[in-house]
This record gives sequence, structure tokens and C-alpha cells, in this order.
Amino acid sequence: MLLAQDILLSAFNSYALCEDGKMAEFKKVVEDTAFNLLKLAVVKLPSDIKEALNRAYKEETSEAGRVQFEAILKDIELAEKDNTPLCQDTGIIIFYVKAGSKVKGLEAIEAALQNATRRATKEIPLRPNAVDPFTQKNSGDNTGQHIPYINWEITDSDYVEITAFPKGGGSENVCTIGMITPGEGVNGLKKFVIDAVIKAGAMPCPPTIVGVAAGGGSDISIKLAKASLLRPLNEPNPNPDLDKLEKELYEAANSTGIGPMGLGGKFTVLGVRIDYAHRHPASYPVAVAFQCWAARRSTARIHSDGTVEYLTHKVR
Ligand code: SF4
Repeated sequence: MLLAQDILLSAFNSYALCEDGKMAEFKKVVEDTAFNLLKLAVVKLPSDIKEALNRAYKEETSEAGRVQFEAILKDIELAEKDNTPLCQDTGIIIFYVKAGSKVKGLEAIEAALQNATRRATKEIPLRPNAVDPFTQKNSGDNTGQHIPYINWEITDSDYVEITAFPKGGGSENVCTIGMITPGEGVNGLKKFVIDAVIKAGAMPCPPTIVGVAAGGGSDISIKLAKASLLRPLNEPNPNPDLDKLEKELYEAANSTGIGPMGLGGKFTVLGVRIDYAHRHPASYPVAVAFQCWAARRSTARIHSDGTVEYLTHKVR
């Protein structure tokens, strides 16, 4: 069981970063923080997700949809009360790391995140979800080739920010990338996204969050689409045109009537998030990444004095 005092202890027992010979201590702080993040993520949804689910429940008019919302909200309540994962599928483990260029010891982070994943699998526990695609052998500890996957970003800062993003299989199975013709433009993008929502149906455990990205190349668009799922639901898109497009796609997706868990209703999606990269003149990649209602994510910042600040969850 993760207690607030455990988290604070890990912060106050930690050591100042950036000092020679402190690599082991830094690695331990990163490992403990990542372990705590995995625990927080799988047990407790961030407040923006819970608020969106509660709001949708109040506005849902379909009886079948309301019953699904009641089950979802009860599940969230019980997980928090019992300090246990809110879904049996605790996902494949992905981290996003913003690495401050002034922090020494960054090379210790990868091993620390792997250790944290192994510990979390055993102690929380997490369902072992890392399978070799060729031998079909499950590693048993949620680590393996490229897993946990780490998305790195170098920042001009003296802290390290880590986000844990356990990604469930149901919503992952309907993520898609396509190449529309450049001439189709934004109308082609809209059609591609709504077709993807309709095709996904109940599979991603709706109401979902839909991450959309256009441009770049095939690899870039799917990475951006997935990363866009990290933007909280109460944070509008800073680009007014994309904000408008997000609202339009949100209305269109909810007009499908797929509803909570695919049983019909007003809420097929809780939000749409859009990002983009400039594209090759001949290519127009569009990627759609789905996140289920169990939209788990947790973030913490490890400061240069070794203290840890949890950004998505209250720990006291
Ligand atoms: S898609 Fe999400 S809610 Fe559905 S089973 Fe997987 S992790 Fe759980």
C-alpha cells in the first residue's frame, strides 16, 4: 500500500543531485519516484479525468449509458478505497521523461525506470503484460525489449520530470495511422478520425479520449497522437483553430451514439486532443490514438535538491 508518508519519505531521504559520487542515490530517488508514479497511476485517476466522468454521468440520458457510468464511478471509488488497481489490465508501461540538461546522472534513469517497473509488477502488483512477439513468452515482470518504453525530451532545466503512462491493450488495439491524400486536407482528416471512432466501437472501453495528430511521417504522427493524450481534459488547445477542431470532432464523435462501453449513449468520448507536425508535400499522415476511460497517468518532478513534487496527484 502506498501511503503519503512513504512518498514524502522518499523525497526527504533523497540526496542532492549533481554531486559526484551521488549517482546511486540519484538512481534510487528516480526508482522510488517511478515506483510511486506507477502505483498512483494504476490506483487513482487524475482529477480532470474523474471530473469529466462525473460530469458526463450527470448529463448522460441513456439508461444503459448511466448504468455503465455508475459501474465505472463505483470502480474508481473502490480502487482508491482499497488501494488496488482500477482495471485488471494495468497496461504496457510507458514513461515520458523531461530531462533537464543541468542534471548530472541522466544515464542512470533508464535502469532506474526498469527497476521501478519490476518492483511495481511484484509489489503493487501489476499484471505482467510484456510478451515477446516472436516467442510469445511473457517476461513476467513488465520489462523486455524496448519495454518499459521511454520517450525522452531534453529541457533547459535543473530537474527531471517523469510521467508514468500505463497503456491498456483494449484502447491500444484500435489506434490507427493512415495516409490521406494531401488534397483531402482537413476534411479528409475529420473523416479519418470519425471513421476510426466508429470502427473502434466498444473495443477501447469508451468513453475514450481521442488523440489525433497530423503530419510529420507515420512514426511522428502516432507518437504525437499518443503524447497528446497526456494533456489534461481541462486544458484547452493553445492553438485556437485546433481548439475549435477538437470541439467539432468531440461533438461528431459523440453524435455516433456508441456510448459508454459501447452500449449506447451521449458520451462516446470525453475529449479530443490534437497535435501536428509539418508534413512532406506529398504526404498527409493522420494518426488516431485512443485512451480508455481508465485514462491513467501520473507525473512527478525531481528537483535538484532531491525533493520530489507530485504534479498530478495529491499525496497528502
Ligand atoms: S481498455 Fe482500459 S478500461 Fe478497458 S480493459 Fe483495457 S485498460 Fe481496462
